[in-house]
Amino acid sequence: MALLALSGTAALGQSSGQGAAALTVIRAGTLIDGVSEAPRKNQLIFLRGKRIEKVTDGSGAIPSGSHVIDLSNATVLPGLIDAHTHIFLWGEDPNKGGYDANILKAGIALRAARATYAARRALEQGFTTLRDVETEGAGYGDIEIKQAIEEGTIPGPRIFGATRAISTTGGYNLEDYAPELEMPKGAQLVDGPVEARKAARQQLEHGADWLKVYMTHRSWVDKEGKLVSQPTLTVEELKAIVDEAHGWQKKVACHAYNGIGLQRALDGGCDSIEHGLEMTDAQIAQMLRQGTWYCPTLSPYYDDWAEADTPAGKRDRARAAVHEITFKKALQAHLKIVFGTDMGGIPWTDPIAQEFKRMVGLGMAPMDAIQSATSRAAEMLDMKGEIGVLAPGAYAEVIAVQGDPLKDIGELERVRFVMHNGAIFKNEIAK
Ligand SMILES: [Zn+2]
Repeated sequence: MALLALSGTAALGQSSGQGAAALTVIRAGTLIDGVSEAPRKNQLIFLRGKRIEKVTDGSGAIPSGSHVIDLSNATVLPGLIDAHTHIFLWGEDPNKGGYDANILKAGIALRAARATYAARRALEQGFTTLRDVETEGAGYGDIEIKQAIEEGTIPGPRIFGATRAISTTGGYNLEDYAPELEMPKGAQLVDGPVEARKAARQQLEHGADWLKVYMTHRSWVDKEGKLVSQPTLTVEELKAIVDEAHGWQKKVACHAYNGIGLQRALDGGCDSIEHGLEMTDAQIAQMLRQGTWYCPTLSPYYDDWAEADTPAGKRDRARAAVHEITFKKALQAHLKIVFGTDMGGIPWTDPIAQEFKRMVGLGMAPMDAIQSATSRAAEMLDMKGEIGVLAPGAYAEVIAVQGDPLKDIGELERVRFVMHNGAIFKNEIAK
């Protein structure tokens, strides 16, 4: 099936102009367009080539000779966007060597093969766009996987790649080895604003669509039982990176748990806070003022907890506990919440859409959760109107589920139809 979809994509890539492409019409039983607050019944989506021409109600005339796709028994949505993934990360299960095995036990060809698998997994689950926020020591591999997808060599979603990511000395893995050993690092480590700006320039030169920085690294629970995270980059270092990125009209995603590092992320002008486990009311207010996006990635903090009475076990439980409180505060404050999972930290064999259940479980309305993975994420990616929406002019990125995701958000874990850039990748909708 992948081969069929692949040749379809390649053929589309070679077709000259939209006029040459045939008309395709999708009959949608229910349409959730990614922007509107309510679904619509019995709609027709007219597509030509890679783009949507128009959306009408079901009584509209279908020109003879057009290719009709019958999804009248299904709920049709825009292709989903996961704004926080790592296609080059292959789990962090301690029993399988944890994070370090990714770098120490796998060569670059194996890692590229796994990233190829991850890209395909995303697409078959209806995620037609990923913001992939660093390759964990695999250099500029994300940009090359993106190139392979765009040239039609492998199936995969649209990728916004952050390449290597930036942290400081003492601010990223691999660590805890003998001090005599010069260990490879999962991110580009810098000290001082000059090195920070240089790293930003290097990554942008080599095709980074976004920059990713670590504003906190280790975390633990202090004597009072409070979660503490180690700050990494200073405000001056971050400002150099943000200034450089914004000059290139690119944005900066900031991994930050809480405390000093999260405050520096906001004061340094970051564009999105990743994880944001614990945010004060003042920090949430600052995010509202600055228009900062919030990508909470709830799911990974419920996996692989260490034993309850160990320091790591206490930390794992504290992280999930404060995260829930922060997420609810962010909802109430109407922060711009975008869907992100940290896939890669979570095995790529697991369902990506599991994050929807976490969000809805903490009080987010199902339509709001869907918009966090469609139009709102598109806006963060400067793709408003082009992806994350089913409307004239948008890319033909269309998915469908058999049931009603507004009644059971878990339906999104069972995506049965995927169209990417106007080409059908899979269609398992029952007639
Ligand atoms: Zn991550």
